[in-house]
Formats: sequence, C-alpha cells, structure tokens
Amino acid sequence: MRTAHEPDPSKIFISRRQFLAATSVLASAPLWSWPAFAATPYTFSQGDFEILVVSDGELTLPASLLAPDAPPEELKALLEITGQGPEQVTAATNPTVIRAGDDIILVDNGSGNKFQPTAGKLVENLKGTGIEPESVTKLVFSHAHPDHIWGTLKGDGILTFPNATYYVNSAEWDFWMAPDILTKMPQAFHDFARGAQRDLAAVKERAVMMKPGDDIVTGIKVLDTAGHTPGHISLEVAGEDGLIIVADAITHQTVFFAHPEWRSGFDVIHDLAAQNKKALLERAATDKTRLLGFHWTYPGVGHAERKDGAYRFVAAT
Ligand SMILES: [Zn+2]
Repeated sequence: MRTAHEPDPSKIFISRRQFLAATSVLASAPLWSWPAFAATPYTFSQGDFEILVVSDGELTLPASLLAPDAPPEELKALLEITGQGPEQVTAATNPTVIRAGDDIILVDNGSGNKFQPTAGKLVENLKGTGIEPESVTKLVFSHAHPDHIWGTLKGDGILTFPNATYYVNSAEWDFWMAPDILTKMPQAFHDFARGAQRDLAAVKERAVMMKPGDDIVTGIKVLDTAGHTPGHISLEVAGEDGLIIVADAITHQTVFFAHPEWRSGFDVIHDLAAQNKKALLERAATDKTRLLGFHWTYPGVGHAERKDGAYRFVAAT
C-alpha cells in the first residue's frame, strides 16, 4: 500500500481553540437559502472533454481560520478584492462534472445535508443541468473533508450516486481509515474523521484505489497535491494549455495566490501544502494552464499570472 506522505501527528490539524472558534461561527451561520440553479452552469470544452462547474452552494467560515498567521490588514485587503471579510468568508463550493466519451465523471460530491444549511445543493443543481445522479459513472474524491465527501450518502446505506465507481487516493484512504485516527487529532475534529470513515466505508465495494500519476481515463491524470490533507489530489485534464482541477490545494484565489507561503488553518501538513501551492502556481503561470478551484468565487475558473514576486488570479471571461 502506498504511503506517499506519512503525516507527522504533531503537525496535524489546527489547534483545538481555533477549531472551536470556527465551529461556533459555523453553528450560527445564517439560514438563507441558495437559489435553484436556474441558469445554465458555467461550461467549457477542454480538449476532448466538456467541463461543467455545478455549485453545491456556499460555506461560511471565519476569515481568521483561512490564514491564521497572516497580518490582519493584509488579509483584509486581499479578501476585499473578492468582496469578502473582514470577519467571515463566504466560500463557493464548485464540484465539477467532466463529460468524457460515455463517462460522466464527477469530481467531489459536496456535503449533502450534513454540514451547513447553505450547502448540499449539488444534486438539485445537477438535475437542473439534466444530469441525474444515476448517470454519473465515475466519482473522484480530491480528499475526504466534509464539503467534498459528505454528500456520498442520501440515507442510511443509500448512495447518492449509486452507479458510480469511486476513485480514492490510497494515501487519503489510509489516513482516514486508520484504526487509531481519533487518537491523532483533537476531539473537535472527530466528526470529520467519523464522517470520512462513514462515507469511505460506504463506497468500499465500488472503490478503486489510485495514486498520483494514474489516469482516471486517458487524458485525466491524478496530480499529487498533498498537504491540505495527507492524500489530497488534483486532476490534470489534457487539451490546449491544460486544465488543473485544483480542488483545495489552493483554497482562496486572492489570498493564497498572493501568499502561497501563508499557513492555511485547514491544511493538515502545512509545509508540504505551501510547497505544493507554490509549485502548482509556478507551473500554471509558466504554462498558462487553466485552473479550477473548488472554493474560488463561482465558477472558480481562470489563470495564474506572476505579480510582485508571487501570483494573481485572472478569472476566465
Ligand atoms: Zn474544501
């Protein structure tokens, strides 16, 4: 079994204090409703593939958790560019559909009705595009955090996407499914682990273990972007100058483009996460690669340009 990046338990997870502060904000998140996806979702072609970004709704998070060590004024200025902050960040959630020949490939399945009331809209929005959950043939998990995997079950033992084959990085599977996982993290995170174990166990019979470098189908390759979680992956999609479905390797399109070295409160292995952020941005700026971020303002598609010794996000038009 592959273990690309053994996590150092002493470096795993934000502090209990930070997490409790975050969850108190999450618990009081406003109960507004996300409008149905009436309009056609953002879509583009990438080589032989058709890409659709289908929203799962929004999440509200404390800005302080996004980049806990950032100078507050600098963080505030970067958040203002996207109309966010200073106290809270309303983050998009952008699961992605790839039409590849006869396959309908879904990258992450959102959080279902288990996380925040403003999220869990994926199935409704997929149906709005004419895609029924039963027609999804392949489901790729970028990682096993709640907003990416908790939509797996729509009821006890009932898969939301019943006909899909589930692609999971073996390093991510091993991390969350370790029998002693609860001893490695503060109690405040135990729900994350229990949720990951519940959903990974639910797809066990339909799961394919993968590793960086593997192809999901020809032209869609698994890219190692560990750090956010020990087995976090992105996807490289061939065609033109390439597309990278970044997932949570870069969780904010102004903050971490300008400061890929800043620690994110949600990254498990901080040094590795920062290293992979920089590498991904440097490559994307050089190659003019199209990027798609899970939490970037919908649809989360654009490019990286070099700016002031770092980078800036240029949204696709
Ligand atoms: Zn996420």
